[in-house]
Amino acid sequence: MKLLIMGPPGVGKGTQAVCINNELRIAHLSTGEILRSEVDAKSVIGKNAKLYMDFGRLAPDNILIEIVTERISKSDCQNGYILDGFPRTLPQAKGLDEMMHSIGHDLDCAISLTVNKDELLDRLIKRGKEAGRSDDNPDVIRNRQKIYWEQTAPLLDFYHDKGILKEVDGLGKIPEITKRILDVLK
Ligand code: AMP
Repeated sequence: MKLLIMGPPGVGKGTQAVCINNELRIAHLSTGEILRSEVDAKSVIGKNAKLYMDFGRLAPDNILIEIVTERISKSDCQNGYILDGFPRTLPQAKGLDEMMHSIGHDLDCAISLTVNKDELLDRLIKRGKEAGRSDDNPDVIRNRQKIYWEQTAPLLDFYHDKGILKEVDGLGKIPEITKRILDVLK
């Protein structure tokens, strides 16, 4: 099964992607995690991406498309995968379509996790304190949210028009939300 999970920063995409990866035994592909490990490794991609990540801005589409193209061609993705944090812009979504088409893959479902905005800010501030993420401070969070609504939310229409968008309520206990996701995938 080939899936993607979207939703505003703090909605719980990463947490749910890990749960779905455990349940369905498909690869978990988080572009945020890949970029953070490139930053830690001080690679060329990492140094470039950090300039954007530290300000809550989106890294350039071509970097992301390159990373994902390389990642989904690996053997652990042949049984399926869940994309977490990608695509985030229309060019990325179109790039994903092309790359999947070129290797004979079909996207089964785009899961959109929803939750109200105040809840999100609280969750992100808490995560910033616990995980020490440099992009989880209030100013950067506000910027990441703004960018989500401006650049990523329009993708909901893109996937709705393809008939593969499923909206799932992201409020509640982690296992309850995982069950809701698994139910819409049936
Ligand atoms: P995340 O862990 O998904 O919240 O991503 C953390 C940061 O990595 C984002 O705020 C962006 O700066 C960068 N990033 C991750 N995925 C993408 C993407 N698909 N497009 C552009 N930038 C991204």
